[in-house]
Amino acid sequence: MNLAILGATGSIGTSTLDVVARHPERYRVFALAAHSSADALLALCRVHRPPYAVLAGGAPSARLAAAFREQGTELLFGAAALEQIAVDRRCDVVMAAIVGAAGLASTLAAARAGKRVLLANKEALVMAGPLLTRAAREAGATLLPVDSEHNAVFQCLSDARAVRRIVLTASGGPFRVAPLETLDAVTPTQACAHPNWVMGPKISVDSATMMNKGLEVIEARWLFDVPASAIEVVIHPQSIVHSLVEYIDGSLIAQLSNPDMRVPIAHALGYPERIASGARPLDLTAMKDLSFERPDERRFPCLRLAYSALGRGGTAPAVLNAANEVAVDAFLAGRLPFTSIARVIAETLDTLPATPASDLAAVMAADEQARRAAGACVLARAA
Ligand code: NAD
Ligand code: MG
Repeated sequence: MNLAILGATGSIGTSTLDVVARHPERYRVFALAAHSSADALLALCRVHRPPYAVLAGGAPSARLAAAFREQGTELLFGAAALEQIAVDRRCDVVMAAIVGAAGLASTLAAARAGKRVLLANKEALVMAGPLLTRAAREAGATLLPVDSEHNAVFQCLSDARAVRRIVLTASGGPFRVAPLETLDAVTPTQACAHPNWVMGPKISVDSATMMNKGLEVIEARWLFDVPASAIEVVIHPQSIVHSLVEYIDGSLIAQLSNPDMRVPIAHALGYPERIASGARPLDLTAMKDLSFERPDERRFPCLRLAYSALGRGGTAPAVLNAANEVAVDAFLAGRLPFTSIARVIAETLDTLPATPASDLAAVMAADEQARRAAGACVLARAA
């Protein structure tokens, strides 16, 4: 199988390459794409030797192109090249692992081209769930969840018609028990120090605010076609149970593993077969306890904001996502206090009415409007 990895230099991208390298007989790396980290991309190309590489945000330079060409890789530039790779006839599988709204167009293009899409880029489903799932259905594309919770749900689903409830687990992030009054002053470094997972900076902050779980509720709504009222979030600080499905007969099925993204990545890569992931096996006898608690709404206001955007429908989830990206960027740049992330999102949602998300243009217009509105809120609240 020929595989393209969009977001190859990131946390999911490199974990994917780790799994792929264990199965050289199954996968050929067709293309590796990144935003602007040319050196990291070149290093990956030296090892995996794809015929194509993409620098989506990079400016063309003859020297750079020559360095890639020297070891057999043609370097393409610009965001449109992501879509070009995603729809290429020679490409069978697309790992959508770009972070944020920047991944939507290429993920949608891969779905429209009927590819097997391994979906890590949850923001694409948050922004355009109905569009993306319909495109996949119509083109005969397969959307396989890589997000650990959704991959767990997918593994636990035996009879979709008999599902009573989906339970998404959340670690609670680094501030699960920190005194509430200290949250105003937390730094990006503290917010990115996740207790159980090593991830990119954006999703790490999302985990600290629990917007990540909010985005995942929306993701689950579209992936599994269940109403929001049947999706529950529980905090499970050990990150061993990755999510659960409850059936109408009262059975609750869970998927367990050590917290290692190579497990869901290998599942999606190999599906319907199972392949080795390199993850350490789980030692049940070494676990002292597995605990579950209800999320505290005052500590994690972003979770309610996500349910509310999902309830409003139309472009509201795209607005939520864009406002979150703007607020998280500002927090990471030291321009916004941690606790103002939720406030910026709430204000942006209040300012912009939800309109029908009928096509990609409508979604992208809402995204742009929301970025402007959220930028103004950030300025007004600057740290
Ligand atoms: P990351 O920041 O480590 O990597 C992001 C990748 O996207 C990089 O390769 C970067 O070059 C590329 N990129 C960024 N902006 C781009 C742009 N404008 N155009 C093209 N490429 C761009 O992020 P990550 O942690 O690997 O997360 C990637 C996606 O997977 C996110 O949507 C995240 O929510 C999801 N996810 C990640 C994890 C995890 O454990 N890291 C778990 C579940 C889901
Ligand atoms: Mg997740």
